[in-house]
Amino acid sequence: MPTFKGTIASQGISIAPIIKYLVESIEDLEVSDCRFNTDEEARLDDALEKYIVLLSETKKFAPETEREMLEAYELIAQSLVEETKELARNEKICAELALKKVYLKYRESFKSSGSSLIALREADLRSIAASLANYLRGREPKSTLSVHGKIVVAEDVTPTDVIKFAKDGVKGVVTMKGGVTSHAAIIARGNDIPYIIIPDLRLENINNGDIAILDALDGSLVVNPGEKEVENYRVKVARFEELKSILRRSAFAKASTLDNQVIDVLCNIRDIEEARAASTGGCDGIGLFRVEFLYMTRDKPPGEETLYTAFTKVAEFFEGKTVVIRAPDLGADKPLPYIPLKEENPFLGLRGIRLLLEYSKEIFTPFLKAFLRAQRSHGNLRLLLPMVTTVREVLETGELLTMVAEDSFERMATSNIRIGVMVETPAAALMVDKLADTGLIKFVSYGTNDLTQYTLAVDRGNANVSYLYDELDPALLRLLEVSVSKALKKRIEVEVCGEMASKVPAVPVLLGLGVKGLSVNPAQVGLVKYVISKLNASNLGKDLVSKVLNASDVEESRHIIKEYLLSIGLKELNPWL
Ligand code: PEP
Ligand code: MG
Repeated sequence: MPTFKGTIASQGISIAPIIKYLVESIEDLEVSDCRFNTDEEARLDDALEKYIVLLSETKKFAPETEREMLEAYELIAQSLVEETKELARNEKICAELALKKVYLKYRESFKSSGSSLIALREADLRSIAASLANYLRGREPKSTLSVHGKIVVAEDVTPTDVIKFAKDGVKGVVTMKGGVTSHAAIIARGNDIPYIIIPDLRLENINNGDIAILDALDGSLVVNPGEKEVENYRVKVARFEELKSILRRSAFAKASTLDNQVIDVLCNIRDIEEARAASTGGCDGIGLFRVEFLYMTRDKPPGEETLYTAFTKVAEFFEGKTVVIRAPDLGADKPLPYIPLKEENPFLGLRGIRLLLEYSKEIFTPFLKAFLRAQRSHGNLRLLLPMVTTVREVLETGELLTMVAEDSFERMATSNIRIGVMVETPAAALMVDKLADTGLIKFVSYGTNDLTQYTLAVDRGNANVSYLYDELDPALLRLLEVSVSKALKKRIEVEVCGEMASKVPAVPVLLGLGVKGLSVNPAQVGLVKYVISKLNASNLGKDLVSKVLNASDVEESRHIIKEYLLSIGLKELNPWL
């Protein structure tokens, strides 16, 4: 009864037979027997044509939100084939080898960026190249394989695969590669398909037809479970199914506590596709638009026009609701090919607002110009400053904003722009009152991903110390308590946009501290709103927060929160505690 643990890409739980979905990956494409022929370009054109047919077939039953992505795939495939033809022609090599070479060239540049954000998009390129390679080798996609009522286990899956799985009634997906924000994962979430990613899964230990429990609530895959386990899981499935329709309904209601405190549940997005999907998922607005992707996929910074188009699109999806655009948080884990920085310790180096002010002409000014234009035409935008540590950084941003404003009307209007500081460093957390005293700040948004790393001195991406990384550590909660109460005294709005806001046990603590806005992963909106609707905000300070602040360690604070939620009758939340 092997059990594998992985990362949850889409929540859910199911019991079903396994089907192994083995598609040759582009990295493993065998090219040693391949010779150059005069028809290499024609073969590539033929593969492209077949791929485009597959995309348009997929489009027919793809959800509205995925159509734009499929169109982007077509454009990427076209340029990939163009470059491959040129290489095959110049180097006199076969189409397969040329395709592999072109793919590997891009993979290397994606890798050397060192960014997890870009690595996720690499999955898109890999899937397009693999599909083209299959057509070159005369293989049809695995469209004949029936996945109905089965759990698909694969090394990797493409977004088009997942769209097809959804149509066929798949019970779940497990892959070794991929990321939780890949398109495949986004589509799985949109279609309620449980999906986990298990990098160290051993495919050779799994057979077609093996019964498995895919528990994408606790992130495990149990192959050939015993009778008792199956029985337990059947109960869990039934409970989850019941809860799911409630969560779906919760997503579309305004979140308020039992004592009528209204909480904004906003969403975090990275690009226009995610914004479009989020706009139909119950988000009360956008609490964090991570614009960095626009900067990291180019060999020079995006111009004002590109940024303006992106901002206005998101503003339109959320007409009449708040959209918080974060100024690009570049440097450290989001390096730029066009600003090479040689730093011993980039997380303590030139990143976020520091880099923006240093490269004000090249990066910050065009960004602010695009922001001001988009705000003038749509009116629902807010500006968020990343990695602030000093009052000076806020003042300098205010000065730059006034300089950037083109006319006196715009200059006047800038004084009404809602600027917020992202509290991601202990310095900003402790100086929140002084930041507010600048008069420029209307809100703060706690970036708990970085705030946890800087408070606990734990690199957020380092597996060796990941056991120490926990937002419910009383040290972080104490810092939040000091900081949030300073912010509330200054009457500035308080939101949280780090991953913490999406986590069930953190929600009552944050509300108890006085937080009024949570910006979460779009897939968690229903769950977070449901938890909010079950809490009595006026009891949380005394009954919960005072106790967790007095905990000696994270195990104790987690225990206190779990006991509290169970004591108020929220047994159904057990899978998340
Ligand atoms: C954070 O630090 O909590 C945050 C939201 O920013 P990012 O995860 O993009 O660094
Ligand atoms: Mg951050």
